[in-house]
Amino acid sequence: MSERTWMNATPDTTEPEDLPVRSQREHVWCLNRKHRMALANGGSGHHHGLGLAKQVCARCWTRRQPRAVWLVIDHRSPMPAEQADQPDDRRAKILVVARRPAVRAGVGRLEVRVRGAVVAVADVQLCGVDHRGVVRHIQVYPTHRRRGFGTLLLDAAQARGPGYHWSTVQLAQTDDAQDFWAYQDSAEPLHLGEPHYCTHMREANGEWG
Ligand SMILES: [Zn+2]
Ligand SMILES: [Zn+2]
Repeated sequence: MSERTWMNATPDTTEPEDLPVRSQREHVWCLNRKHRMALANGGSGHHHGLGLAKQVCARCWTRRQPRAVWLVIDHRSPMPAEQADQPDDRRAKILVVARRPAVRAGVGRLEVRVRGAVVAVADVQLCGVDHRGVVRHIQVYPTHRRRGFGTLLLDAAQARGPGYHWSTVQLAQTDDAQDFWAYQDSAEPLHLGEPHYCTHMREANGEWG
């Protein structure tokens, strides 16, 4: 079957808007982590209602698995919050938005906005001098969980510092948090549960002076 045929099997008129999401990076596995995309790539299409690309795993699709189709979100070039606050009907309806930290190496914020509403946030500290990144917090609002927004934000955070040394603060001991972190297959190595702050981050956090 050709790539076109897979996508045509999902008519745009009945297309759900609550499809799972995924970053643009080269994923080895399909969203269900069952099939290698090199073999199972069922092609890409366009979700007209959301203005986004979508991708399908041909193997999951054939087996009628959930999460066989997902939306592809630009995670590498988040939109500045000032720009995202201005209405614009032409842009994609799911966006990663960035808020700069108030001070150098301080805590910045990445958000996922669906049709303008914030559904997930990640607080991240970055230092371009020491090439370090610390993920402070990732939160997905309860009604929007299990769609991949938290994983998208981790990819968006790490895309801000490729090759950086990445760590997280102490992980929450809730089932949701443990499930989330145990599921991750991050783009960059990630040291879990102990933040490796540099001196600039410590200063921004008010630990000195
Ligand atoms: Zn699959
Ligand atoms: Zn630093």
